Amino acid sequence: MAALSFADARRTVIDRVREGLGPIPTETLRLDDTAGRVLAQAIHADRDYPPEARSMRDGFAVRSADVPGQLQLAGEIRAGQPCTLALQPGQAIEIMTGATVPPGADAVVMVEHTRTEDHRVIFDRPIETGANVNPQGCDARSGDEVLPGGVRLQFAETALLASVGAAYVNVYRQPRVAILATGDELVELDSHPLPHQIRNSNSWSLALQVARAGALPRVLPVAGDDLEATIDLLGDGLGADLLLISGGVSAGKYDMVELALKSFDASFHFDRVLIQPGQPCVFGTARGKFFFGLPGNPASTMVCFETLARAAVELLSGLSEPFLPLTWARLAVNFRHKPGLTRFLPARLQAGGTLLPVKWSGSGDLAALGRANAWLVADPERAEYAAGELIQVLLR
Ligand code: AMP
Ligand code: MG
Repeated sequence: MAALSFADARRTVIDRVREGLGPIPTETLRLDDTAGRVLAQAIHADRDYPPEARSMRDGFAVRSADVPGQLQLAGEIRAGQPCTLALQPGQAIEIMTGATVPPGADAVVMVEHTRTEDHRVIFDRPIETGANVNPQGCDARSGDEVLPGGVRLQFAETALLASVGAAYVNVYRQPRVAILATGDELVELDSHPLPHQIRNSNSWSLALQVARAGALPRVLPVAGDDLEATIDLLGDGLGADLLLISGGVSAGKYDMVELALKSFDASFHFDRVLIQPGQPCVFGTARGKFFFGLPGNPASTMVCFETLARAAVELLSGLSEPFLPLTWARLAVNFRHKPGLTRFLPARLQAGGTLLPVKWSGSGDLAALGRANAWLVADPERAEYAAGELIQVLLR
């Protein structure tokens, strides 16, 4: 099977999962239980926002034509009280942020730009019509769709739902994602590994990545590099909505995963991607479920999940657009790599926004990942970057 470019591999994941996506079950939850969940309904404004013209500042409601000048103070309007006053020519009404702008007024002058003497307010400068006033319905009209289905409920979306009174909302059920680490060298995190052994870290990084992508992780027991045991645990994992396998997909003599998957009549959509770390990444279908075989080096597992598998988890969670948090930053130093592969290398986004590559000894170097906070993304068609040039960054 031919190796795919990073873009083609990501497109393959997104297209395949979208094609295979049936209706996702939904549930209705109280708003305060929906953090991070994906909205399964559109949300509409229950009235105009704002429902009446609102002042954006503490100050004085005026007719803009009367200013500059001296106006007679004709009362006060507070936030949270119905507006019973109307402004007459030659008058100013004291008004607070969030209070209803009285009929007759077309602008609010900030209190900082006025002086008060007896019952007169003095305005030294002109004001534009509409200044510091949010007209009725300028944010949204009653009945407008303010949020479509398929978006994740983060804090801003939650504020919007609270403001329109959506106390109970319909969200997608979270998919279950099975996680299977493979390798005879792996021991559990609370054991003391012998010199030839290592603790299983991939199951735990993946569990967190899965949860962050909006799904429910289920960590299976470690499979040794043994065909029968691997087949057994794969069968268990294919009971979930998605299966993530770490390790055992490279060309080593005891890399059993592809062989074990063949006993489930698995079809493979790709088994090599031109990225580093993570080149032997596998994506396929078995028993009607998608699976990923993520190369076992910790950074390979992480990068393959973030850049490829995460899109599948997000689509299965009901998200309409998978999210890859790519941005740009200026390099703090010169950088070069061997072209041909899209590289995701540990780097540190520093205060001030520059990006510093972090020294590492390869994709097993978890200590380097601890010193990094982002991934530098090196273009496969470009070998050299000078300090100060823009380079892509994948946020972590
Ligand atoms: P593999 O993909 O099975 O060839 O493994 C590649 C490297 O990753 C080897 O050095 C493994 O020991 C290491 N590795 C595999 N699985 C894990 C895991 N679950 N946690 C930490 N390291 C692992
Ligand atoms: Mg292995």
